[in-house]
Amino acid sequence: MSYFGPREAQTTVPCPSCGAPLVIERSCREVRMRCPVCGRRFPLKDFIGNADEAMESFLENVYCDRI
Ligand SMILES: [Zn+2]
Repeated sequence: MSYFGPREAQTTVPCPSCGAPLVIERSCREVRMRCPVCGRRFPLKDFIGNADEAMESFLENVYCDRI
């Protein structure tokens, strides 16, 4: 088990562009959604209303890291 959470996680949220399931990823302080198929990136806030379980648990880890 790593103290820090994973840097990215597979979600079930569909890409707005092509419909493939998006990956949630983070860089230093920013979290984004990335499509592994068409390569587009989307701001997290566009998806916050329909986050799935993978997104929720990923974000919990991100917020823990800020302490
Ligand atoms: Zn896509």
